[in-house]
Amino acid sequence: MSQDLSHSEQTPSLNPEYAEIVSQYEKKIYDLKTLLEISRSLCSTIEFSQLIESILYTCMGQFRVLGAGIFVPEPLDSDYFVLNRNYNGLELDPNVTYRISVSNPLINVITKNDRVFTIDELKAELPAYADLGPISSLKPSLIVPLVQRNHLDGILVLGEKISLPEEQGYSSYEKELILTIASLAAVAIYNSTLLERSSTDMMTHLKLKYFFYNVLTDKLDAAMAQNLPLAVIMFDIDFFKRFNDTYGHACGDYVLQTVAKIIRSCIRSCDLASRYGGEEFTVMLDKTGKDDAMTVAERIRQHVEEYDFCYENQHVKVTISIGVTVFDSEKNLVSSPKQLVDQADQALYVSKRSGRNRVTFADERLISEIKITE
Ligand code: GH3
Ligand code: MG
Ligand code: MG
Repeated sequence: MSQDLSHSEQTPSLNPEYAEIVSQYEKKIYDLKTLLEISRSLCSTIEFSQLIESILYTCMGQFRVLGAGIFVPEPLDSDYFVLNRNYNGLELDPNVTYRISVSNPLINVITKNDRVFTIDELKAELPAYADLGPISSLKPSLIVPLVQRNHLDGILVLGEKISLPEEQGYSSYEKELILTIASLAAVAIYNSTLLERSSTDMMTHLKLKYFFYNVLTDKLDAAMAQNLPLAVIMFDIDFFKRFNDTYGHACGDYVLQTVAKIIRSCIRSCDLASRYGGEEFTVMLDKTGKDDAMTVAERIRQHVEEYDFCYENQHVKVTISIGVTVFDSEKNLVSSPKQLVDQADQALYVSKRSGRNRVTFADERLISEIKITE
């Protein structure tokens, strides 16, 4: 017996008014799901530059803009918001630092008003003398304050928008959505900045010992799993007490800051440098074997020796002693990050004993001597 099912298989046709409401709710559910995803992604990213990238890509995809950038407070308490280097799709001069002073009246206006702005709307709110140059250079379609608890953590600038023919700029619904994403982004930036500050030595701007150990632990696990080398270099300034005793503590601080700068300038962005203690520094070189690690260590030693350290018109000579070790699953299978750091320290001690201003590698003989004394 055949049955005509065609009627029951069809979706009952909705009254067009209801259909419109259903479609609006479906859109809202979709947007809420997207917001949840964005929130998850921002909460799970704590590393600063990755976070900035994640915010930019999210907003570019979500609001169909061709470019975007974020001004963030300069690290370690500065008086400026600076355009983060990870901007995307904006035609800007890479040699220019785009920055906005915190005393610029625009900072106050965008912090206090819970809203987004076009450049014309911002101009209308500000006195004529307010400098909008750094933001205008980005040719913004929308300026979005990243505010949490009345604190401005960044300024998101969206570039040219790809609008559909029936659209005119951003709808009020889109603006509301942008503000919600902006508040999530602001909290994430705030958390990431807190971590950055609490793990960084304020004087040298290098990472602190505990942070170095945390990263070293992870990288050593990865090196073991992938059978790749990993180098640790340890540095100690020679006769550092003399700088303090002869020229004063401030001169000692200047030497520390300058040595830190030289170390940073000699390594890649994927390497990690730390202020390990008073005038001791460490560097971790990921996926790096003996030859390359020795080259980097020697380069740093030479740069310090040749650098013209000049403090209050006095030229002072600075040298450093260095110890290098490399994790290698065949030649040097360590069981902990501490063991690796101890090896670099012992090699450094050999450099000190044998005249200072030199680099020593923790070879098999030295490592076996350490094992005997342990
Ligand atoms: P050596 O060549 O054997 O390393 O000699 P040294 O004089 O460098 O010896 P030592 O490591 O004992 O001296 C470290 C000195 O570093 C002692 C301490 O007063 C000084 N120091 C530690 N932290 C700071 C700091 O933040 N600023 C300044 N100015 N001095 C510091
Ligand atoms: Mg020392
Ligand atoms: Mg010293």
